[in-house]
Amino acid sequence: MDLSNSRFIRFLLQDVKNEKETKDLAVLIRILCLVFVIYYLITGITIAVMQHYVLGLLLIGAIGLMIGCFILTYEDHTIMSLVLFNIVILVFSSLLTLFLGFETGFNLPIFLNILLIYFNKTERMAHKRIYSFAIMIYQMFLSEISTALSLDMAPSATMMMAIQTFNMLAFSCALLSTAYAYCMKFNQAEEKLRRINDNLERMANLDTLTGLSNRRHMNEYLAGLVFEYNRSNKVFTMAIGDIDFFKKVNDTYGHDTGDYVLSTAANLFKKFMKDKGHVARWGGEEFLFAFENMDLDKAYRYLDELRHEVEKTSMDFKEFHFNITMTYGMEEFNPRLGIEATINRADAKLYKGKQGGRNQVVK
Ligand code: GH3
Ligand code: MG
Ligand code: MG
Repeated sequence: MDLSNSRFIRFLLQDVKNEKETKDLAVLIRILCLVFVIYYLITGITIAVMQHYVLGLLLIGAIGLMIGCFILTYEDHTIMSLVLFNIVILVFSSLLTLFLGFETGFNLPIFLNILLIYFNKTERMAHKRIYSFAIMIYQMFLSEISTALSLDMAPSATMMMAIQTFNMLAFSCALLSTAYAYCMKFNQAEEKLRRINDNLERMANLDTLTGLSNRRHMNEYLAGLVFEYNRSNKVFTMAIGDIDFFKKVNDTYGHDTGDYVLSTAANLFKKFMKDKGHVARWGGEEFLFAFENMDLDKAYRYLDELRHEVEKTSMDFKEFHFNITMTYGMEEFNPRLGIEATINRADAKLYKGKQGGRNQVVK
C-alpha cells in the first residue's frame, strides 16, 4: 500500500495557507494531537477502572482540547494551536502527576514543551531559553509538590508498572514523531540549499543562450589541462571558431534567428566534442575548442570535419532555410607562451582565415 497516496495521510500533510506559518510545525502538531487523543483515551479508561471518575471525566475535556488543537492547524492558527497544545499538556500532565504520583511518569509529556518551542521559528531564541529553563524548574517543583501532597490515589504496584510502561511508550512515541519531524525539516532545508547551490554553480559556469560553458568555466578547464601538461606532458590543442557574416544573419532574418543559429551550432559542437575535449562560448559568435590529448595535426583533421558538418547543417527557423559557414584558427598549447598567448596566436590565424576567404581552418 502506498502510504503517500492515502487520503488520510494527504489530509494530515495538508499545507498551511498562511505564509507566516510553516507546514512542518502544523503537521507535527497534528500527529502529536492524534498521539495524545489516544493517550488520554487509554489513560481515561485506566483511571475510570481505578474508580477516579472525576479525573477520568477531566480527561474527556483534554481529548476535546486536543481535537481543538488539531482543527486549529487547518484554520491558519498553527501558533495558537501550539500554545494551546502546550497548555493542555502542562495542565493535564500536572494534574495526573499530582493525583497519581511523580513516579507514574505522567510528567514526561511536559518535556515535549521544550522541544516544541524550539520548533517554532517565530519565537525569539532568548524566550526559548527562558522557557526551557522554566519547564525544568517546574518539573522539579512538581516532583516536590506531588510527594508533599501525597493524595493517596497512588495505584497498586502492578498498576503502577503498567502505567509507567504505558507512559514511557507514549512519551517515546511523541518524542519519535518530534525527532522525525526535526530530521525531515533539516533534510528538506539541506536539500533546498543543495539545489540552490547547484543552480548558482550552473548559472556561474554556463552561457544562458547556448548552454555551453562560458569563458570563466573554460578558463578553469584549461587550467586543468595545463596542470596535466606540466605533470605528464599531455599535449592539447586550442581553436577559435567564428561564424562567418553573422551580422548579415541578424540583419536579414532577425535577431531571434541569430539566437537560433547560435544555439543550433552550440548543440552540434557539444555533440561533436563529447569524446574529444571541451567547447565554450568565448564571445558573441565566437567559440573556443580544446582538443584534449591531441597535437595540432590530429585536432586539425577533426576540426575540418566539424567545419564540413557546420556547412552541411541546414538552419530551419520560421520560414527561413539557410546554411552558415565558420572560420577557425588553431594552435597547439605552447608552455613557453602560456594559455593566453596561445589563444592569441589561434585568434591571429582566425583573422588570416577571414582574410583568406572564410570557411576554412588555419593551423
Ligand atoms: P565575420 O565573418 O567577419 O566574422 O563577420 P560577422 O558579421 O560575423 O562579424 P561581426 O563582428 O561584424 O558581427 C558579429 C555579430 O554577432 C554582431 C552582433 O550583433 C552579433 N551577435 C553577438 N552576440 C549575439 C547574440 O547573442 N545573438 C545574436 N542574435 N547576435 C549576436
Ligand atoms: Mg563572425
Ligand atoms: Mg566575431
